[in-house]
Amino acid sequence: MSKKEKLLVTSALPYTNGPVHIGHVAGAYLPADIFVRYHRLKGSDIVYMCGSDEHGVAITIRAEREGVSPRDIIDRYHPQIKNSFERLGVSFDNYSRTSLPIHHETGQEFFSDLYSKGILKKKQEKQFYDEKAKMFLPDRYVEGTCPVCAFEEARGDQCELCGSDLNQTDLKNPVSKLSGETPVLRDTFHWYFPLGDFQERLRAFFDARPNWKENVRNYCYGWIKQGLQDRAITRDLTWGIKVPLEDAGDKVMYVWFEAVLGYISSTKEWAQKRGEPERWKDYWQDENCKLVHFVGKDNIVFHAVMFPSFLMARGGYVLPHDVPANEFLNLEGAKFSTSRDHAVWVDDYLERFQPDPLRYCLAAIAPETKDSDFSWKDFQTRNNSELVGILGNFVNRSLTFIQKHFDGKVPAAQPPDELDQWMLKCMAEAPGAIGDSLEKYEVRRALKALMDVARNANKYFNDKEPWRRVHDDRDVCATTLNICAQVSRALAVLMAPFLPFSAVKLWKLLNLPGNVHEQNWGQSGEAALAAGHVLNPPEVLFSKIENDVISEETNRLKSKAKPGSNKTAEKEERTLISFDQFKDVDLRIAKVLTAEKVEKTDKLLRLEVELGTEQRQIIAGMAEFLAPEDLVGKKVVVVANLQPAKIRGLESQGMLLAAESESGEFSLLTVEKDISSGTKIR
Ligand SMILES: [Zn+2]
Repeated sequence: MSKKEKLLVTSALPYTNGPVHIGHVAGAYLPADIFVRYHRLKGSDIVYMCGSDEHGVAITIRAEREGVSPRDIIDRYHPQIKNSFERLGVSFDNYSRTSLPIHHETGQEFFSDLYSKGILKKKQEKQFYDEKAKMFLPDRYVEGTCPVCAFEEARGDQCELCGSDLNQTDLKNPVSKLSGETPVLRDTFHWYFPLGDFQERLRAFFDARPNWKENVRNYCYGWIKQGLQDRAITRDLTWGIKVPLEDAGDKVMYVWFEAVLGYISSTKEWAQKRGEPERWKDYWQDENCKLVHFVGKDNIVFHAVMFPSFLMARGGYVLPHDVPANEFLNLEGAKFSTSRDHAVWVDDYLERFQPDPLRYCLAAIAPETKDSDFSWKDFQTRNNSELVGILGNFVNRSLTFIQKHFDGKVPAAQPPDELDQWMLKCMAEAPGAIGDSLEKYEVRRALKALMDVARNANKYFNDKEPWRRVHDDRDVCATTLNICAQVSRALAVLMAPFLPFSAVKLWKLLNLPGNVHEQNWGQSGEAALAAGHVLNPPEVLFSKIENDVISEETNRLKSKAKPGSNKTAEKEERTLISFDQFKDVDLRIAKVLTAEKVEKTDKLLRLEVELGTEQRQIIAGMAEFLAPEDLVGKKVVVVANLQPAKIRGLESQGMLLAAESESGEFSLLTVEKDISSGTKIR
């Protein structure tokens, strides 16, 4: 007998500074849960780990804003997040927290090990310091004017308005979030992880994983191509894991160094709870174990580049087998926004609806290869015409018919005719078809294969016309209903990964022993119900959702999105300018001569443009949308009299115009006719 497949699956650790919304669920949690539930049914040796990420500046800043301690924040949101996942049926084997001693120990042990091997480098540097608050200001503790889009509240690590990656020192008019004072630059030091030293090993690691998703592979090779740089893994903060070195002072580990280690400490905690404290090593230190990280695309670099290099540096740990990263989910055509409350919070949803319809809808629109959109209307349609109309309908008509005409007992079958055989074949092939897609992390296709069984079963029921045969050929009718009962049983097991609550309900209606989640996937397509088996009285599996319920939800979203409810929205409000003010803006046609990505950034392009007789360098935040080669030769529109700005140490002498919608559509502004560069636009 072949040995059981061994897997260790993780979902990205959520930041504990707020509740979870359905956009989070669609990316890193639901696809993982479906994958894990399938593997459990298949009999794989699998554990599924997650936990709250409780350190980092996002949490301390929230605490300061509310005038409470970071501990207050994490103690509020950790239970809330954990509860949301449970109620939605996300079946972690352990959900830990990075504030636990077991995680601090794991983090310190990793740090000490890398330090004692001489891998970490200590570097002197200058960093913003708040003289009033008497502390260094890491990352988002500094805000200022974005050098790319001039948004006045850009954070030290990123501009929320234009999405540019920033360094604190890129900001114009930097201000401390703590005191509102202008920070000063002061000497400090940090320990760096030499990512560049792992460049070739990482390349070999990627080369050995040709089956990774295209988006992830492109991303990884993109990083390598840019050249990997040393990364600071410490911060001057008090909230976090203390650096276990004598000369470290108040320094803590940078959250992105230690958070990924949370998967290891969560597994350790799980093993301890089972009374087998060494058991975690069976997964983390067994080279036959497949480590799979489910994440959103914003987390690819940490799981596919950073974490593997930390593990290589440490040695003796299994490296990621796969990182099936998903794209983003949008909501009603716009990006999710926590600050604008443009979100569907899992807690709110569960107050009004069952978990399975959401799981179904999010699996059907999973953002696997590109961003996708959740709308309440689509949710209603999928619930009413697919869950109720196809899956629920088949099960309900079958069980009701058996109740009414066969006394609630599975009737005995005669030898199958051609149509019966076709139906039995559909059922027999389904576990393989669904499983094959799930093994490739293709949740959408897997769900479609499941629904195809129900679709075919409805067709079978219609073609067999049991409501007629029951009067003129009872044996044929009995065979039909026997097969319908078999298919219902198969569906209960096959839908268990996707619709875990409804699967339990159907298992109960079928009056079957044991737990549907502990059945054998491989045998689920067999006709296993004995003739004469007594079913429970039928009940509907899914309920229709009415229009007024959906309007209520869409109205709720609209009423939350009040203009002016925050700074970003205020910026979108219309203010009138005079013609003279408009004339002050010097818009001109420019020709792009060269374009290249700015090294070590995701979003920035460096352009040389021709403006009549003049040549200029422009740094534009467009690399996400346009390849450099798409720009070369184009006639574009630039603001020619914008104050020059330093971006990543490069001077930007103007700004390129482009349009970007809330839902992420992007278009460069060009001209309709070929017109000389330098021409003024009026
Ligand atoms: Zn910006």
